[in-house]
Amino acid sequence: MSAFEDFLTSRLTELEAASLRRRLQLSRPLTAARILRNGRTLHNFSSNDYLGLASHPRLMAAAHEAIARHGAGSTAARLLTGTLPEHIELEEAIARFKRTPAALSFSSGYAAALGAIPALVGPGDVIWLDKLCHACLIDGARLSGATLRVFPHNDLGVLENRLRSFRDKNAHARVLILTESVFSMDGDASPLRELVEIKERFGAWLFVDEAHGVGVLGERGRGLADALGVAGRIEVQMGTLGKALGASGAYICGSEALREFLMNRARSFIFSTAPPPASAAAAKEAIVILEQTQEGHELLGRLHARRAQFVRALPQSQSVSAIFPILTGAESAAMHASEMLQQYGFLVPAIRYPTVARGAARLRVTLSASHSPEAVEALASALREVLPSTSSTPTRDATWGAESKAVASGAWHAHA
Ligand SMILES: *Cc1c(COP(=O)(O)O)cnc(C)c1O
Repeated sequence: MSAFEDFLTSRLTELEAASLRRRLQLSRPLTAARILRNGRTLHNFSSNDYLGLASHPRLMAAAHEAIARHGAGSTAARLLTGTLPEHIELEEAIARFKRTPAALSFSSGYAAALGAIPALVGPGDVIWLDKLCHACLIDGARLSGATLRVFPHNDLGVLENRLRSFRDKNAHARVLILTESVFSMDGDASPLRELVEIKERFGAWLFVDEAHGVGVLGERGRGLADALGVAGRIEVQMGTLGKALGASGAYICGSEALREFLMNRARSFIFSTAPPPASAAAAKEAIVILEQTQEGHELLGRLHARRAQFVRALPQSQSVSAIFPILTGAESAAMHASEMLQQYGFLVPAIRYPTVARGAARLRVTLSASHSPEAVEALASALREVLPSTSSTPTRDATWGAESKAVASGAWHAHA
C-alpha cells in the first residue's frame, strides 16, 4: 500500500510543480449567470449553459414530472427494460429538430463517441481527425483499432492532398473523417461545406461533433451543418444535451439504418444503464423551447447580442460561437489571470495542458443569453486590466477565407 501511495503522491507533486495539478471546487449556482464559490458570488463565465436553459422552469418541471411518472432511475439498459417513453419522445424530438430521419440518445457525449466510432470503423480502416478534436473523439478513434491520421487544424488543403495520395493506393479502404462544428477550446468553426465536398470526392464518411454548435448556431440553434445546408450530406452528426440544451446526455442523428446499427453495435449504448427519465424529459423540453417558441428565438437573439457586445468591448477576442479563447501561452500566466479575475468577481477558467497543447494555455470565456449586458461590459474591462499585453486569440489557418467572410457577414447567426 505505501509504495502505491508514494507513487500517487510523487505524480501529484510533479503536476503541482508544472502548474498542471487540478482541483475540484464546489460551485453553488445562484442563478443561470451567478454562482457561489468559496463564500463569494461570482459572475459565471465558465459554463456551457449558453442559453440559460439548465435552470429554466420548463426544463425543471419536465424533469420533476418524469420522476413522478417513472422514477429517479431507468433501472436497466435500453435494450432490456430501460427504454421509457421519455427516451423515445426525446429521440423523436431530436430527429425532427435536426431534420434527420432518426436519432439515438446516449448518456453522455463521451459515451456517444466511444460507442459510435468503434462501431463504424476498425482495424484495416483509416480515421482522419482534426488536430484539435475533443478527447472523446480521439479516445473513440483509438479504441476502434483503425489507423489514426491527424490533419492540422481546419487545414483542408493538407487533408485533401493526403486523402488523394492515400486513395491512389487504397481505392476501397473505409475512411472516416472526424471533426467538430465548433471547437470546444478555440470557439472557431470547421469549414464544413468544403469538408463535405472533399469527403465526397474521396469516398470518405464524415462524423461531425456539434457539442458547441447545437443551440448556438443556425436557425433556431439547429447547428452549423444545418446553417450551411450540408446536414443531409453528413453521415454522422453528434451533439450533446448537457451544454446549450441545459440537460444531460448526447445524441447521434442520421439515417434510420445508422440508428439501428448503433443500437446493435455501439457498446457504450448496449452495456450501460439508460439515462434517467428526468434528463431525457428535460432535454426534450429544451428542444421544444428552441424549435417552437418565441422565447427560444429570443434566447438565441440575446446570446448573439452578448457576443457582439463582447467583441466590441474587447476587439482582440474573436469567435463565431459562444466560446472566446484568450491565449496567454504559459500555464502560470493563465492561472494568474484567472485568479485576478476571480478577485474582480468573475469566474473565467484557465485552460491548460492536457486539455490544450503545452504552451497554449488560455482563458476560456463562455457567454450566455443569461448574462446581463452590464456583466459582459464589466468582464471586458476587467480583462483589459488583467491580461498581459501579448494575449491574443489563436491564429487561424489560411484555409479559413471563405468561411470567415460568411461569419463576418453574420450568415451563420440567424439571430445576429
Ligand atoms: C463536452 C464535449 C463532449 C462530451 O460531451 P459530454 O456529454 O459532456 O460527455 C464531446 N465533444 C465535445 C466537442 C465537447 O465539448
